[in-house]
Amino acid sequence: MAYTVTKLKDYSPTTLDTAAKELLRALDQEATAIRNEPDWKAFRDRWMARKNGVLTQVNDLWLKTAPKEAKRNVGQRVNELKKAAEQTIEAALQQIEAKAVLSRLIGDRLDVTLPGISRPIGAEHPVIKASNDMVGVFRNLGFSVQEGPEIETDYYNFESLNFPPNHPARDTQDTLFIANQQSKPLREQLLLRTHTSPVQIRTMEKIKPPIRIVIPGKVYRNDPPDASHSPMFHQIEGLAVDTNITFGDLKGTLDHAMKAFFGSSVKTSFRPSFFPFTEPSAELLVSCFVCGGSGRRGSDPCRPCKQTGWIEILGCGMVDPNVFEFVKHNGYEPSKVSGFAFGMGADRIALLKYGVDDLQLFFQNDVRFLSQFA
Ligand SMILES: [Zn+2]
Repeated sequence: MAYTVTKLKDYSPTTLDTAAKELLRALDQEATAIRNEPDWKAFRDRWMARKNGVLTQVNDLWLKTAPKEAKRNVGQRVNELKKAAEQTIEAALQQIEAKAVLSRLIGDRLDVTLPGISRPIGAEHPVIKASNDMVGVFRNLGFSVQEGPEIETDYYNFESLNFPPNHPARDTQDTLFIANQQSKPLREQLLLRTHTSPVQIRTMEKIKPPIRIVIPGKVYRNDPPDASHSPMFHQIEGLAVDTNITFGDLKGTLDHAMKAFFGSSVKTSFRPSFFPFTEPSAELLVSCFVCGGSGRRGSDPCRPCKQTGWIEILGCGMVDPNVFEFVKHNGYEPSKVSGFAFGMGADRIALLKYGVDDLQLFFQNDVRFLSQFA
């Protein structure tokens, strides 16, 4: 039964005491029952509301009706009760606020026995890792890294690299051309670069000799995917041009690079070859680092070197003077400068380095496979 204010039967101190005690007991009881902020607001309004709040009623029913001689005494009591009510209301508010903070803290509590959230750390793709390692070898030799667009013009991809107009590499069988460009002159037609070599010309147009650059990047050819082919793959090329570069510089540089990359025990060997943009041209082979050059692993034939004891790594040669003709306006006078260039497949390097026998594994994005190399 909720407390209600009733008229006093007289204004004696005893009666006042009893009525005040009853009121304070009700105040305390109601304060104890408060659970949340809406409870507290209702409590505050019930006691303090100007219109018809408990204390207003006390004022009306006890003080206003008191005879003159009792007014002072009753007034003092009513003031004490008002103060007590204010304090109780204030204390009740503090209590529910403290309770809210506490329950928030409990909600935020960490259960240290729960398993942690694992965030796998990313790692370089094995092809990129092998490429970066090889690029690092040449950077240590003073080569700087250059990059270029993957969509190229016929001019940079073929013409300026001394590919004759009817060279088989220009055939759509090998090259992925961008569609609907028949109205453009041939040299402006766009294609997906088939090698990183266009960056050699682009760099020589920008930077006067001497230069030493290494060029990593993606290239594209119209090859169906199989264990050793992919329509997208990665190359690393290099170019050094100065006034007195010889084939001896080429051999010394590449021999050092192969030892730095595959291990100091590998031997190198050069075989004559042909590329449109180098003359003379060669293929570089390294002695097989799997079988040590014997062609056999125990009683089994060695697969990486196909039992020959040698593995083909890259193509290279002295820059054909015809290539310098395209950039002679920037200081590459064919009679004054000479240089060497080389190019290799970064994917092939990765296959060899990590002993993987199917190129497709690198591009299937199976994390179980890729994470072995992280
Ligand atoms: Zn071998």
